[in-house]
Amino acid sequence: MYEEELNEEKTPAEAARELTYKKKNVYERRGEDAVAAAYDYAVGYAKFLDDAKTEREAVAAGITLAKAHGFVPYRFGDALAAGGRYYYDNRGKNLFLFTIGSESVAEGIRISAAHIDSPRIDLKQVPLYEESGMAFLKTHYYGGIRKYQWVATPLALHGVVVRADGEKINVVIGEDDGDPVLYINDLLPHLGHNDDRKPLGEAIVGEKLNLLIGSRPLENEPDGIKLNVLRLLNEKYGIQESDFLSAELCAVPVGHARDAGLDRSMICAYGHDDRVCAYPAMTAMFESLDSPHSMMCILADKEEVGSDGNTGMQCDLMLDLIDAIAASQNVSPALVRANSKCLSADVSAAFDPNFAEAFEKRNSSLLSCGVVLTKYTGARGKSSTNDASAEYVGWLRGIMEKDDVVWQAGELGKVDFGGGGTVAKFISKHNIEVVDLGVPVISMHAPYEIISKVDLYEAHRSFSAFNRY
Ligand code: MN
Ligand code: MN
Repeated sequence: MYEEELNEEKTPAEAARELTYKKKNVYERRGEDAVAAAYDYAVGYAKFLDDAKTEREAVAAGITLAKAHGFVPYRFGDALAAGGRYYYDNRGKNLFLFTIGSESVAEGIRISAAHIDSPRIDLKQVPLYEESGMAFLKTHYYGGIRKYQWVATPLALHGVVVRADGEKINVVIGEDDGDPVLYINDLLPHLGHNDDRKPLGEAIVGEKLNLLIGSRPLENEPDGIKLNVLRLLNEKYGIQESDFLSAELCAVPVGHARDAGLDRSMICAYGHDDRVCAYPAMTAMFESLDSPHSMMCILADKEEVGSDGNTGMQCDLMLDLIDAIAASQNVSPALVRANSKCLSADVSAAFDPNFAEAFEKRNSSLLSCGVVLTKYTGARGKSSTNDASAEYVGWLRGIMEKDDVVWQAGELGKVDFGGGGTVAKFISKHNIEVVDLGVPVISMHAPYEIISKVDLYEAHRSFSAFNRY
């Protein structure tokens, strides 16, 4: 025994090397079986993506999944029982799933908060017009987009029209192979030399993002093409032009989520931000239903435009639900909040060697290196950030180690380059511990984004560990 220890004595350099931190990728850290499990898990995620291209569709898909796991609808005033599983559907655009654990809610609630809205092109309220042999729909883009990415690509229209008589009509055009698609025109390169010299953000302006919707006139009269479009919409959906006034219609990229890479290690799809966190937040909750903790999974709307409005994270609804949960056990809601912990489950920008100049590599997340913990977000001198405490980050590290979750620290890019935020600060202001944890994304906010399947699975595993420990 003594002899053996002597033989294993390390040189000072070897001993010091053990003190270093080195980021490892999931493939190094976890075995073949774990990678296979990640690929399997991604199949369910891809289906969720296809079912949930808008926040409304994500809420509907979330409720379907929740019901399959025994969740029942909650209305304020309903009794809440230990072991209960509930969902609260906020206006069809924001969903709360919550469970009452076996321990007192005075111990706090484990909250995972993701968002289910994604950047897209919304229709204006008076959208339809005809010009020079074509009919178009005027749009107003939603969220942070690089406008040049949304032209000359097939788009589908998703949303609802609410008629004055109260009837709500669901619209999906462009997703079936036989469906027509919509399209935003771009200028041909032959005539684009002036545009080519403009900054990228100025060549395509918001008012040029008009959706091409028809070119065949009903009769050879002015507005004959527009009339034909109205006739077709009326035939299919029973709507008229004024019904656009009370509609929410969104143009999104067409098509299904697809495997990317010959090794099928990635998924190319619209709206990873932030369904790539919303889905694992839900599945981690379903997997943790035997946890002693009370849990809440929030799928928020309006994050991409600042979390305002009554379906965004700045709405007091989360507090109302916590109040109701606290009251059901005669506990102070302030105490519940003080002891609650939250993961703001949102994506981060993965380092991209093609745009290395925008990143500081040591503190950027790398693809396939696991789920990203972002201690602080914000812009410039950390303005508008929830800067999670070292204590809370330390606690979370311990939990991830218990489950051997592969995770990494990440920051959104170079300090002076820009910045971004999440829902974290809207939750931490209620005296709840919050940190950002999510999946690294390539080409964030592009019509089609890229994520790694193994990162997605580590997100599921990390949220699950958070719910259980
Ligand atoms: Mn996001
Ligand atoms: Mn975003």
